[in-house]
Amino acid sequence: MRVPMIAGNWKMNTTISEATELVKAMRAALDRIDNVDKVICPPFVSLAAVRELIQGSSIKLGAQNLYFEEDGAYTGEISPLMLADLCEFVIIGHSERRQYFTETGEIINKKIRAALKAGLKPILCIGERLAENEAGITEKVLTGQLMASSARIYYLSGLIIAYEPVWAIGTGQAATGKQANETIGFIRRTISEKYGKRIALVLRILYGGSVTAANAAEFMSQPEIDGALVGGASLKATEFLSIVKQTSEIKGRLSAEV
Ligand code: PEP
Repeated sequence: MRVPMIAGNWKMNTTISEATELVKAMRAALDRIDNVDKVICPPFVSLAAVRELIQGSSIKLGAQNLYFEEDGAYTGEISPLMLADLCEFVIIGHSERRQYFTETGEIINKKIRAALKAGLKPILCIGERLAENEAGITEKVLTGQLMASSARIYYLSGLIIAYEPVWAIGTGQAATGKQANETIGFIRRTISEKYGKRIALVLRILYGGSVTAANAAEFMSQPEIDGALVGGASLKATEFLSIVKQTSEIKGRLSAEV
């Protein structure tokens, strides 16, 4: 069985003291929820403080990006080795990085390989833009992104994939549960064809894009969706907690039925 995961991507929000307050507001309740991997991904500067606060709890920590070199003259960058000391997960290839920082499939592939080498667990984001969706080329775009990011990776089961349609991120216009389930099913079949059934069965694939406490149940009741990457709603303790709680209840019920 795949353990469900809810990861909060705080993006470029919260100062260190705000991050601290947010963690304190949800730490105890989050810690009590089981059968879900609960991951929070604050900005780099807050990683150390948050790590301190969640020590000894079941809450896990992730970063939002990294550079693919281990060290050297790359002013302003953060290496996989630096992160491996601090956290377990790292988001790679988020659509905002692809859009504003011109990250290509090749760069994303280098980042994933560097993250895996350092022992980090990458959360690889893929997703089509609105025009691509409207042109009916979603599957082609996703296959291209998957193939480019996974080239020369021999430990694909160390990855988590987040399917995040770009038109749904931060827009309040989430996909429907059925749409997301179908597309994630397609991603899993593609992985199965390319890398084998076993990997496709164990690989966790999340949905991301305007997930809130109000629509979380719709996504979590879908069999192909293993959890969510949550942006805006992860900045509100009660919203995030409710998403995690609903995931625990729904996925717990679904697995008991199997
Ligand atoms: C994200 O940033 O990955 C995301 C899904 O954002 P939001 O939930 O705000 O759409």
